Amino acid sequence: MIPYGKQYINNEDLKAVTDALQSDFLTQGPRIAEFEQKFSEYIDVKHSLAVSNGTAALHLAALALGVNEKSNVITTPITFAASANCIRYCGGNVYFADIDEESYLLDLNKVEDLIKSKPAGFFSGIIPVDFAGRAVNLEKFRTLADKYNLWIIEDACHAPGGYFVDSKGQKQFCGNSQFAEAAIFSFHPVKHIACGEGGMISCNDDDLYNKLLLLRTHGITKDSNLLKENHGGWYYEMQELGYNYRLTDFQAALGTSQLKRADAGLEKRREIARKYNEAFTGNERILGHSGVVEGHAYHLYIIEVADRLGLYNYLRSKNIFTQVHYIPVHTMPYYQGLGWKKGDFPAAELYYERCLSLPMFPTLENEEIEYVVSSINEFFAK
Ligand SMILES: *Cc1c(COP(=O)(O)O)cnc(C)c1O
Repeated sequence: MIPYGKQYINNEDLKAVTDALQSDFLTQGPRIAEFEQKFSEYIDVKHSLAVSNGTAALHLAALALGVNEKSNVITTPITFAASANCIRYCGGNVYFADIDEESYLLDLNKVEDLIKSKPAGFFSGIIPVDFAGRAVNLEKFRTLADKYNLWIIEDACHAPGGYFVDSKGQKQFCGNSQFAEAAIFSFHPVKHIACGEGGMISCNDDDLYNKLLLLRTHGITKDSNLLKENHGGWYYEMQELGYNYRLTDFQAALGTSQLKRADAGLEKRREIARKYNEAFTGNERILGHSGVVEGHAYHLYIIEVADRLGLYNYLRSKNIFTQVHYIPVHTMPYYQGLGWKKGDFPAAELYYERCLSLPMFPTLENEEIEYVVSSINEFFAK
């Protein structure tokens, strides 16, 4: 059986986790800070804050940026529901803008059209998603955000190690927060780095970081510089309504160990993408595909075909388990209940009709890639 994605755990990972389990700390030990430090170096950002999962990262980032009942926030319909849900957790309203049909990413022009269709000051932020691992050009989004006084949370769950090239020719790594207030990542096993469950928030701003620190642990602080009173060594204050969104020390140990292989894994993903690209370029039955794009982190390699259900079922009969990413979020019953409907975002909906995510993970063997490609060709030849 070939799945669309798969984690890779080696002996070094096992040792890192058992070492952590045999240490004095299970949660909140030194391995969390180590993971955060190494992750910051990896994506080139000042602060990283480890949390229990990517959804918690989105929730905390939204809270720390002040999302509340009055907030209206824009995201893409082609993402995992959590990118939108985090706004609802804070009581805010989610607005969607359509995708660009070539990149599958949030379309900057459609975002601006949406902003202009509402009174000045209506929107407070944008959550662009580096969907499939393709980096959003955040420099352009920053210009738009500055024009309309909006914050940006980059949902980089698909793109650790991904980058875009800015107008000065510099590589801007996903999550480096040069153009966004904050970025978030997930360490769910299908993502690049597995912690079991896990997530990260990255930012450069010290105040935002301190706020996130507080919110991660119930809003509680023991920092004597922040305390309003001090009754002794035991004393702490709960200063905000926070959560328990901590990662454990043994998960962080796994994350740090996995991070050591992140570059090798990324290189392997890019190599697989080149092979798929070679196989599909010029095939007129393939109506679109992820292609080879500089800086793409290839969480997914997507093809678009007319008979998606037929191909999905055919590949399944050949023990190849592809997936569909994603059913447009605005068509989910919950969001339809909030007034969104099918037909609202034609590019996203057409994409959904045709898209299929092919097997893409670092331990995918060459013969397996060839088997996937030849099975797809067989389906077309039927
Ligand atoms: C996986 C994912 C999330 C949520 O991460 P979890 O760790 O599963 O909570 C959010 N956004 C995107 C784009 C994702 O792929």
